[in-house]
Amino acid sequence: MTYRTDQATDLDTTRVGDTTTVSGWVSRRRDHGGVAFVDLRDATGLVQVVADPEEIQIVDELRMEYCIKVTGVVQERPEGTVNHEMLTGEIEIHANEVVILSPSKPLPFMLDDRSEIEERIRLRYRYLDLRRPHMAANLQARSRLTGAIRRTLDELGFLEVETPTLIRSTPEGARDMLVPSRLRQGNFYALPQSPQLFKQLLMIGGVERYFQIARCYRDEDFRSDRQLEFTQLDLEGSFWTQEDVLVTVEAVLKAAAREIRDVDLTDPFPRLTWQEAMDRFGSDKPDIRFGMEIVVLDDLFEDTEFGVFSGALDGGGTIRGINVGSRELSRAQADGLVDRAKELGAKGLVWIQVSEDGSLRSPVAKFLSDDEQSGLISRLEASLGDVLLIAADRWKTVSQVLGGLRLDLGRPNTQDELAFLWVTGFPMFEEEDDGTRTFSHHPFTSPVSIDEMVSDPDRAISQAYDAVLNGVELGSGSIRIHDPAVQRQVFEVLGIDEETAERRFGWFLEALEYGTPPHGGFAFGIDRLAMVLQGEDSIRDVIPFPKTQTGVDPMTEAPAEVDETQLKELGIQIRAEVIAAREEAGE
Ligand code: ASP
Repeated sequence: MTYRTDQATDLDTTRVGDTTTVSGWVSRRRDHGGVAFVDLRDATGLVQVVADPEEIQIVDELRMEYCIKVTGVVQERPEGTVNHEMLTGEIEIHANEVVILSPSKPLPFMLDDRSEIEERIRLRYRYLDLRRPHMAANLQARSRLTGAIRRTLDELGFLEVETPTLIRSTPEGARDMLVPSRLRQGNFYALPQSPQLFKQLLMIGGVERYFQIARCYRDEDFRSDRQLEFTQLDLEGSFWTQEDVLVTVEAVLKAAAREIRDVDLTDPFPRLTWQEAMDRFGSDKPDIRFGMEIVVLDDLFEDTEFGVFSGALDGGGTIRGINVGSRELSRAQADGLVDRAKELGAKGLVWIQVSEDGSLRSPVAKFLSDDEQSGLISRLEASLGDVLLIAADRWKTVSQVLGGLRLDLGRPNTQDELAFLWVTGFPMFEEEDDGTRTFSHHPFTSPVSIDEMVSDPDRAISQAYDAVLNGVELGSGSIRIHDPAVQRQVFEVLGIDEETAERRFGWFLEALEYGTPPHGGFAFGIDRLAMVLQGEDSIRDVIPFPKTQTGVDPMTEAPAEVDETQLKELGIQIRAEVIAAREEAGE
């Protein structure tokens, strides 16, 4: 038996008169003038089948999503019935034989792209959801995307190497997912947060250019669009400076955009230092598809009588503003902006609107001198109707608040623009919520100046960089430390004492002792890139089998309990309070 001689979209007017066999699913069926019209869908698309139920009785049994095989003759559609929206819209198959390969239960939801379906239901029946045209298109795009990435890196002489996924944990800033060992009970593997140390070992191993499309695992609390497991393009090169990394990643991203969007991106991509990005856009991943930049106003208010402004300056803070353009601003809308600023961390927000007569409408206008008012108008390039928002506080708060409002109020001119950008020169360390010092990228990142890192760690700049696309952080990388002494110093600044460093990373520090080449690399999220290139809002729409926001797979119901015998083999016992809590929750 032959299932098919053609795929649906192989058929066109050049094939009229040919006998063909196609297999696929019943996407739609309607009856018209005693004849049945069936849209048969396969992985390539749709083709219309026409059948006379008097000749082929089985047609009456066909229901949505039955899997069928059809043999028939290709014919031109009668005049007036050509469908220009459909790739095969000029022809149809006149069926001689229809075979039901597998019937389908009635569907839990319609599979057309127009239906809005609750995500839990989509994931519960993901295999059906994947039959929907836009999901199928996303899977295909993703495959083309990784294909383009592989081809580009292959041409550049990179070696694709797989690194292990059962490893000893590497600090990358998130919690590890752990896997208990049966053979060495009481011990655990970690799933990699990234192949970081293995790719560095590959450099020590003489592989000068490595890449991998790597699955990574981070046990984070679910925030917005994150998954416990995700895919990165991970790469690393020896004898590389930062410039080499950026040029390589640009080549890959250009190939990706060409493949999926058919656009030629201009390179080099714009670059901003972290300081500039924060100062101008209030974000380390700025969306540069629109302006609304933050403007420094400190000098205008040096001698101000307005207490909020003078207080901020006296406290070592800053006064900055954005012009959010001409817009309606009722009192309630203005209050809404102030509330939003407070949510973003501000104590308050000054709003000012330039009225028709050029005077300033604002609760604080009366506190501002004429010079201050005209200074504001010219500094923020304000025209009639424009709304100016001003924050006065510590630099970090001001950036955060104005950066957040800018994103709330700014709109890109066009939706399909791809605005890539590099952010370089990140601080080496940052402060945790509890005040302790931590790394801002990972502890294997090289500082720009070792002396500065030791003498003034909190001001030290690292050789780390991020790629940003339309305000989404695509990925990060850095030039690594290749000198074991420097690596030890960084551990020390991070408060990891010598003994702990030796216990956790002794094996890696030892490897660094054997002629380590200077090296650096990068990793970016394939899921995120696919999402933006495909114009999707959710990362879950470009992942074949994602988890929900709470880390659950509604289809298989993972995570799930395991048998007592499995636990016993692993030497694991569930703690009594966990069992009690579960019982109380009725699980
Ligand atoms: N391993 C890093 C990460 O996953 C990327 C890198 O530094 O190459 O974020």
